[in-house]
Amino acid sequence: MQIIVMTSPRLEINYKKIAHNLKTIIAIYETKSIAICAVTKVLCGDVNIARLLVQSGATMLADSKINNFKKMHEAKLQCQFLLLGPPKISEVNLIVKYADISLNTEVLVIRELSKSAVLQKVIHKVILMVECGDLREGIMPEDLEGTVAQVLKLKGVEVVGIGTNLMCLEGVQPTKDKMRLLSQKVVLIEKKFNIHFPIISGGNSANYNWLLSVPDPGRINHLRIGESIFLGRETIENKPIPELFLDAFTLVAEVVELKMKLSDPFGQIGEYFFRKPLGKNKLSPRAILSIGLQDVDVSGLYPEEQVTILNSSSDHLIINPMDSKLKLGCEVRFNLNYSALLAVMTSPNVLKVNISD
Ligand SMILES: *Cc1c(COP(=O)(O)O)cnc(C)c1O
Repeated sequence: MQIIVMTSPRLEINYKKIAHNLKTIIAIYETKSIAICAVTKVLCGDVNIARLLVQSGATMLADSKINNFKKMHEAKLQCQFLLLGPPKISEVNLIVKYADISLNTEVLVIRELSKSAVLQKVIHKVILMVECGDLREGIMPEDLEGTVAQVLKLKGVEVVGIGTNLMCLEGVQPTKDKMRLLSQKVVLIEKKFNIHFPIISGGNSANYNWLLSVPDPGRINHLRIGESIFLGRETIENKPIPELFLDAFTLVAEVVELKMKLSDPFGQIGEYFFRKPLGKNKLSPRAILSIGLQDVDVSGLYPEEQVTILNSSSDHLIINPMDSKLKLGCEVRFNLNYSALLAVMTSPNVLKVNISD
């Protein structure tokens, strides 16, 4: 293998693995007639990866920042854009301009979207989110009927669906019961207003176990999937999904100091830094890597080699190289969890490289 000398820290992104993951996930969910939209919020608006997703079969992308959709529009990506919510009143004009659909919970906001859509002479699509227990965004189930009634009266907006989001704030799982209740609610509301909602968006990467366990997903026909595409896992037990790559992203940082040092610090220690003495204060190798809290969530880093993470500060990650043959200037490679990936993608200090071409 040829060694290419590249700057670090860098994030190596394997486009082929991401494309494979997306295609496989689309196929898995298709077996139960569920369409997925690819949630791009972890990409921090990376248009190249967003384009890859569209080329790999995504017909709808979801993001939490309207600016990211603006960039994707400018890059002429051909797909629907779904804004994760709740949307900001201060952004309604941009939302109507750059998002086809938004997830909503507040009639007041939908009213502003409606006004803006009328002015821009378009129809903005709305999915109403229902609170199912995770206590983030959602209309209380008993208020859904009233909300639908109010929104149906508005011009410029069309209620295209009902949705829910779980497992993102308080860890409430999308169980069979929760999903069945959502389906039942949808049927009741449709009957009451004599309408049909084309999209019932039942959740995210945490819905994988539910999907496998139900022969019939009821009215749920849409999911918003991020983490499974990029990291290959479901998010209840963090288990790998068969056939998916877990290592589409690899963080690489280099050793900038390597010395034998005492395992316990010496001197009077500031309160903030209190730590348990290790007991066996002995000389051991310590390496400093050129990445830290400013650019990554260190608790979400998993070294590919047998090294141990000891500590971190803004720009330093301290590791014990253990038995590895690490030298000054060598690179150490890490897998990442979602929050580490989120931070790295957002950091301008980490070079992003496509390593699949
Ligand atoms: C982030 C998010 C998702 C995607 O969640 P994953 O766990 O990455 O699949 C779906 N829906 C909403 C509303 C979100 O905020």
